[in-house]
Amino acid sequence: MENCIFCKIANGEIPSATLYEDEDFRVILDLGPAAKGHSLILPKRHAANLYELPDDLAAKALIVARKVGQTLQMGLGSDGLNVLQNNGEAAGQTVFHFHIHLIPRCTKDGVGMGWKPGTLTEEDKEEVMALFR
Ligand code: AMP
Ligand code: ZN
Repeated sequence: MENCIFCKIANGEIPSATLYEDEDFRVILDLGPAAKGHSLILPKRHAANLYELPDDLAAKALIVARKVGQTLQMGLGSDGLNVLQNNGEAAGQTVFHFHIHLIPRCTKDGVGMGWKPGTLTEEDKEEVMALFR
């Protein structure tokens, strides 16, 4: 994809702090990290979001997340890891080339990623469950 910055980074046209690379993915350090070690898994083939990602790459992406995430967490001595993936502007996506965030977490690191729990109403439950009937 022309003019896609993550295509250029993933394929090595733009230099990046690369932690891991294989034939399908490059994992880089995020330039605006939420925490130390915040990384991005980028497929080398362009897909705007999860819905456009081919099945084989979707499956492989989680294996890369486990592999790199574990090295980050163990190596940095973190207490946990967030695996995060945004689809669409409303969901916080700002770069429209699929990517998975790996964010090493420490207890009381102050990184905000939560929500205020609501209540599951009968109406919502019915509406959503009906989508799968
Ligand atoms: P998202 O909001 O899920 O689309 O995440 C985009 C992420 O990409 C943000 O965390 C940015 O800090 C990061 N980012 C944007 N441009 C670059 C870049 N050139 N190199 C590394 N990370 C980047
Ligand atoms: Zn792209």
